[in-house]
Amino acid sequence: MKLAFASLSLLLLLPNTLTIMPRTQNDQLKSRAELTNYEETSRYEDVMRFIGELQKRTDKLRVESFGKTEEGRDLPLMIFADPPVAQPREARASGKPVIFIQANIHAGEVEGKEAMLHLARRIATGDLRPLLNNLIILIAPIYNADGNEKFSPNNRTAQNGPIGGVGTRENAKGYDLNRDYMKLETPEANALVGLFNRWDPHLTVDLHTTNGSYHGYHLTYAPTLNPNADARLIAFERNKMLPAITRAMLKTHKFRLYFYGNFATKERINRELDNFEMQRSGREARPPEGLADKPETKIWRTFDHRPRFGNNYCGLRNRLTILSEAYSYLDFKSRVAVTEAFVEEIFKYSALHAEEIVALIKRVDDDAVRGRLTQQGVAFELKSLDKPVDILVGEVEKVKNPRSGKMMTAMIENKFTPTPMPNYGLFAATKSGVIPQAYLFRNEDGMKTVIAKLLAHGIAIEELTEPLTAEVESFVIDDVKKAARAFQGHAEVKLKGRTQKEAVQFPAGSILIRTAQSSASLIFYLLEAESDDGFVNWNFLDAYLEKGKTYPIYKLTGEVKAPSKLKR
Ligand SMILES: [Zn+2]
Repeated sequence: MKLAFASLSLLLLLPNTLTIMPRTQNDQLKSRAELTNYEETSRYEDVMRFIGELQKRTDKLRVESFGKTEEGRDLPLMIFADPPVAQPREARASGKPVIFIQANIHAGEVEGKEAMLHLARRIATGDLRPLLNNLIILIAPIYNADGNEKFSPNNRTAQNGPIGGVGTRENAKGYDLNRDYMKLETPEANALVGLFNRWDPHLTVDLHTTNGSYHGYHLTYAPTLNPNADARLIAFERNKMLPAITRAMLKTHKFRLYFYGNFATKERINRELDNFEMQRSGREARPPEGLADKPETKIWRTFDHRPRFGNNYCGLRNRLTILSEAYSYLDFKSRVAVTEAFVEEIFKYSALHAEEIVALIKRVDDDAVRGRLTQQGVAFELKSLDKPVDILVGEVEKVKNPRSGKMMTAMIENKFTPTPMPNYGLFAATKSGVIPQAYLFRNEDGMKTVIAKLLAHGIAIEELTEPLTAEVESFVIDDVKKAARAFQGHAEVKLKGRTQKEAVQFPAGSILIRTAQSSASLIFYLLEAESDDGFVNWNFLDAYLEKGKTYPIYKLTGEVKAPSKLKR
C-alpha cells in the first residue's frame, strides 16, 4: 500500500515529465514552449518529434546524429541547404559559408533550444527559406541532451521562467561542456569537436543565458576573446558584424544588445588580475554582490580569455564565433524571441556578406598554413577599451514562480540608466612565446593521451620514419604549481621555467607536429609548457613535471628536415 501511494504521489508531483501530445496537424510543428504557453521547455523527445515533423515537410533538410551523449542519446544535427547536402564536402563545394548554431550546452539555459526549433521551421517552410541561396545552415538544438532531461524547478530558480523547470548546467557526469573544449573528456565535447573537424563551420554561434548582473540589455554577446586568434577575425566580429547586427536588432526588433559583461569594481578587478591563473575558479562571472555599489569605481567586465570556452576555442581554430547570452531576468517568451531574432540577424548578415566571410577565412587559413605566425601569448590579463562606455544599468523585481513557490528575478524592462564606466572587454598577453616550425616528442606511453587528444582536435601529426638529431629549444622546469581546489575533476597546473637550446636525439616513431596548419594557434595553446589552458594545465603531462626536469615536448625553430609519415 505504501508503495502504491508513493508512486501515485510521484506522478502527481511530476506532471510535466509527461510528453505533451500535439492534438492537431498544425500543433505537430509547435515547440513544447509554444504548446504550453511558454510555461515549459522542450524535452529531448519533443525536439526529436519536432525535427521529424519538419523533415516530412521539406526536402532541404537532412538530419544526422553527430555523436552520442554519456547516457547514449543521439545528438541531432539539422543540415539545411538548397540543394540539400548530406556530406561536408558537398557543403564546401557549394562555396557558401557554413553557419553552425548550437543551443543548450548549459541545459538550464533553454531558450536557444526553442528559438532554434522556431527558426528551423521558418527556414524549412517559411520566410527564411531564401537564406539557403547564400548559406549552409547547421543547427544542433540540444547539445547537452542528458542535462536537458534532468529538469527540475530547483534548477536556476532566479531565472525568469520557464516556470515548469529546466535541466542542469552539467552533463550526466557532472562536467561543464563549456569548459571541456581543450581537455575533451566528455563524449559530447568529442562529438562536437568531431563535428568541427568534419563540417568546419565558418561561423559558430553558441546560445546561453546570463547568470549575473542587473543590466538593461535583452541580450549580450561576445566575440572570440583570446588575442591569439587572428586579428582580422577579431576585427571583423568586433568592429563590423556585431555592431551591424546590434543596430538591426534595435531597429527591426526593438531589442537592446551589447557586448557581454558583468558589473565589478576596480578594486576587485585588480585583485583578480593579481591572482588570475590560479585563484579564479573558471566559473562564469558571478553577480557583483554589493561590490559595485560605488558608482565611481564601477566597471563593466567581460569573462575569460581561455579556450576551454567555446567562443575562444573556435577563434584559435581560425574561425568566426559568437557567444549569445539572453538576459536571465527577461521573461522566457521574450528570451526565446530575442535569441531567435539575434540568430536571424546573424543569418541575414552572413548571407549578405557570404563572399566576404568565405574569403576572410581562406585568407587567415592560407597565412597560417604558410607559417606566417611568429609569437603568441601564454598568459593574459584583462584590458579596458580606450574610452569609458555608457552601460545600461538595469532594475529588477522579485516575482513568485506559481509552480515551485520560489522567487524569481524579473527585469523591469523600461527602467535602465545609461552610466559611463570603463569597459574591460579585452585581454592582452602578459607573457608570450615563439611559435616553432614544429613540436617534437618521443612516442612514449606517457604521451599516449596527448597524441589521442591532438588527433581528436583534428590536428595533423606525423611520425618520424628515421631517427633524428635536431637542434631544439627545450624547457627546463623550475617550479610546478598545482591548484589547491579541484576544478572539473582536475588540479590545474602551472609551470615556471627557462628555455635552452640543445641537440636532442629522437628515435624513429617520435611525434612531429608542424605548426603550418590552420589551427596553428590551437596547437601552440595545447602544447606550450607555460600555456594557461593546455595539456599541462589539465594534468595530461603530470608524470613528467618535476623541478629540474626537462618538459617532454621540444620546439624545433629551424626548418623541419626529417622523413616522416602522417599518423592516424
Ligand atoms: Zn551558459
